[in-house]
Amino acid sequence: MKKDFAVIGLGRFGGSICRELSREGMEVLALDLDEDKVNEYRDIASHAVIADSTDESVLKELGFRNIDHVIVAIGDNIQASMLTTLILKEMGLKMITVKAQNDYHEKILNKIGADQVVHPERDMGKRIAHNIISNNILDY
Ligand code: ATP
Repeated sequence: MKKDFAVIGLGRFGGSICRELSREGMEVLALDLDEDKVNEYRDIASHAVIADSTDESVLKELGFRNIDHVIVAIGDNIQASMLTTLILKEMGLKMITVKAQNDYHEKILNKIGADQVVHPERDMGKRIAHNIISNNILDY
């Protein structure tokens, strides 16, 4: 079943999520404050918009209410990440995945009601460590 996604923040993490979802044929709304980032995704995502996700009226105008799954991939600006998540939650979004910068950030995101909190660097480090161990076991 085809789903509608939105990716907020088009850094390396958000950008790669946006590319993969689009490659899989999903409808993706890509959003970032930065015009250059948004231009990069114009031909990749279904829609690419320059906007501030901490502005509730903008998210409402863009029809976020009807999006199945939103990925908040704002990194450094923890305040913007938390406020965006809170607004999306208050709007009644069904599924919100948020990239956490640290444990403190994760704790607050869970309190706000983020459905899924990810730490891409930490999670990938764990996976690679396990791969290294299992490859070594096979080698012996
Ligand atoms: P990565 O490691 O994935 O490259 P990062 O952790 O360095 O990302 P940032 O570069 O800080 O994350 O943020 C990702 C993107 O989020 C940036 O392109 C930035 O312009 C965008 N961004 C930050 N605040 C907002 C906001 N309020 N609304 C929309 N986009 C935002």
